[in-house]
Amino acid sequence: MSNTIIPEPVMILGVPVHPLTYDQFLDVAGDFVREAQPRQICTANPEFVMTARRTPQFLEVLQKADLVLPDGVGLLWAAERLGRPLPQRVTGSDGIYHLCERAAREGWRLFLLGAGPGIADATATILSGRYPRLQIAGTYAGSPAEDELDMITKLIHRARPDILLVAYGAPKQDLWINRHKVALGVPVSIGVGGAFDHVSGVRRRAPTWLIRLNLEWLWRLLTQPWRWRRQLDLPRFVWTVLREAEGSKSE
Ligand code: UDP
Repeated sequence: MSNTIIPEPVMILGVPVHPLTYDQFLDVAGDFVREAQPRQICTANPEFVMTARRTPQFLEVLQKADLVLPDGVGLLWAAERLGRPLPQRVTGSDGIYHLCERAAREGWRLFLLGAGPGIADATATILSGRYPRLQIAGTYAGSPAEDELDMITKLIHRARPDILLVAYGAPKQDLWINRHKVALGVPVSIGVGGAFDHVSGVRRRAPTWLIRLNLEWLWRLLTQPWRWRRQLDLPRFVWTVLREAEGSKSE
């Protein structure tokens, strides 16, 4: 039985984003685990929204997802502008700790899929050290390539996790989950982007003071300068939201 009411999503340039706190997200995840139907959760940011505007298939995945969490601060800014503020950021990189804390308490079993060789394993070791009762059902680096699918499906069927965390980067991870979630049969699958890289320490997340200043995107630009082309989506996002907010005022 589902207890938690999922609030109506805020529509940001056609992408639904759910106004939830970390606690509410974990309550909903708990309902999903108990209901044991394959559910999909996405952790979205402005780059997701702009990619979705160019890629109908990705837009459809986000629209059909059971939860879309506001990972990027740009979504909070946009929601405010559009008159429906979101309560807080719910990120993959912080969310993984919140999730593991609750999972350890509730006995939810986690499978970590994706990231570079050894990273999911290292992440599992760190998380198990931090949450001793956490049950890691399995880890596998793998890739979203078709020729890996049989192997991954077998591993996951054998491990029978309640929650599958997929770190293949967006939009690959989200398209992959959407395509395979029914065959995999895991109650909750979440695309977590670079979360394993952050937990394992192979990539440093922005310092807390920069995150507080809402400048995590700037950190990513400085530490991963090859993303600049992708990050052009940020000013495009701001521009498009401002135009939409202006348009709805004059209606
Ligand atoms: N990755 C992977 N297989 C792939 C492509 C990417 O395992 O085929 C991993 C990569 O190693 C990294 C994560 O996916 O751990 C992507 O992190 P990023 O921060 O770029 O996520 P995004 O911002 O794209 O969501």
